[in-house]
Amino acid sequence: MMSIALAFAGGRQKPELMLWSTSFAFHGLAYVLYSLRGEVSDFISIVGANILISSIFAILAEGFFYFLKRTAPRVLIWSPVVFIATSFSFLLDHLALRIIIGCAVFALQGLLLLYFVAKNNHLIVGRGKYIFAASAFIESCILVSRAVILSQGYSISTLTVADPLNTITYLCSIVCLILLVISLFLMTWERDEYALLQSELGLKAAVAMAEQQHQELEVTLKTANDGIYIIDENGLLIDANDAFLQMHQFDKTVIGQLHVQDWDTQLEDRLLHSYAQRVRDGEQKMIFETVHRCRDGQCLSVEVSANALVRGGQQVVYCAARDISDRKQLETQLLAQAHFDYLTGLNNRRYFVELSESELLRAKRYQKNLSLLMLDIDDFKHINDTYGHKAGDIVLMQLAFICRNILREIDIIGRLGGEEFAVVLPETSADYAVEVAERLREAVALASISVNDNTSLQITVSIGVTSLADCHDNIDALLLSADKALYLAKGAGKNQVFSA
Ligand code: GH3
Ligand code: MG
Ligand code: MG
Repeated sequence: MMSIALAFAGGRQKPELMLWSTSFAFHGLAYVLYSLRGEVSDFISIVGANILISSIFAILAEGFFYFLKRTAPRVLIWSPVVFIATSFSFLLDHLALRIIIGCAVFALQGLLLLYFVAKNNHLIVGRGKYIFAASAFIESCILVSRAVILSQGYSISTLTVADPLNTITYLCSIVCLILLVISLFLMTWERDEYALLQSELGLKAAVAMAEQQHQELEVTLKTANDGIYIIDENGLLIDANDAFLQMHQFDKTVIGQLHVQDWDTQLEDRLLHSYAQRVRDGEQKMIFETVHRCRDGQCLSVEVSANALVRGGQQVVYCAARDISDRKQLETQLLAQAHFDYLTGLNNRRYFVELSESELLRAKRYQKNLSLLMLDIDDFKHINDTYGHKAGDIVLMQLAFICRNILREIDIIGRLGGEEFAVVLPETSADYAVEVAERLREAVALASISVNDNTSLQITVSIGVTSLADCHDNIDALLLSADKALYLAKGAGKNQVFSA
């Protein structure tokens, strides 16, 4: 009955219960063999029954180690069974000796169980193990007492006869068996309870951790200076922090309504469809610069850092946009400073040379005309000396203005330094360049430049003209030729156009 109870109590999920159930079944079978004494051969009845009894302890120990998920010391566990089988085969005619040896070996096996429990005490939770140990100990004591009593001359014909010693032994053994079953149930139940408690505690800790992380995330989103927004795979805005809404002058109602292309002016359809895919395939994070349009139409230069992630089973893109308008403005300023002359706004010498070089290469490649003018204000030092340096600056700015007016968009004008200017005229022959230079010289000579409230003055320029020839490998060579012509113009009395 107890064997069946153990097998039903979870033998499928818990193999150790099945093993223990088997040991109890062996117990029942052993008594069947005992009672068949005389009906079957003595060998089967006596040796078989005692092997079964000894095996009970061995299988209990096997189940115990299965329960612990540890490897069982098989030799130690099964050698008493082998000993019983061998010795009893030779002692079929010696009842008293058999009983004494049997009791002693079974008692030892009981104590072995006790030792296993004590050794692995720290691995077992609950109090079932104490009942297990107690029943093993009591059973051992009974068996030792029985062996001692029998060795003192107390004689019983067989184990199955009604005798006070047999009765006491069996009654006590039954009590031990009941205790053993209770302990086995209790041990497995307590272990499951403990595991459940642990997983509950783990779950609670995980929930608490998740809640804390959620709160931290909320605070991070709230306090972040960057505009954080989450879009789904189609670009629909599904969440955004306050900074994002403020940055774009949106209110909360835009969430779930606006589409990323409503504010990102540079995100083309083509890119959008593969947005999440691209972010996912990229190295975790994608950083790019773009321009965001606010509700009032104002544009913001932003740097977006995008990450693909799964939120609630949905593939989304998590973006943080940083306003980089100030940085962009500074970059533009620095670029302007690097390329343009602060006073006249014309190309500075370096940038003029850079632009002119590529124009010269193009002209050479396509065998087009190209001319270059070099201008120098006549007697500029005198203007400075007479009207002051500030007036000189106004003259320089005015000359730049006249040049820009007279010349074409495609002409490259540069201030080479001081009061010296140069102009590259693409696709312009030498003759036509002289005409342009003349027009320029005349326009300058005719202009009346007002340098202060009371004073207006007139200036003249000398111009050297040169055209691209095979000997000109670079813009410096052209500048040198034009400079020579300019020198001639100065020598010829200034306010002249000379070509070389
Ligand atoms: P020439 O007719 O032979 O060209 O004589 P010039 O006086 O024009 O030539 P010069 O090279 O002797 O003088 C150039 C002057 O230009 C000297 C310098 O003080 C002045 N200058 C150079 N850069 C600037 C500037 O940025 N602003 C002003 N106001 N003057 C400048
Ligand atoms: Mg000069
Ligand atoms: Mg000069």
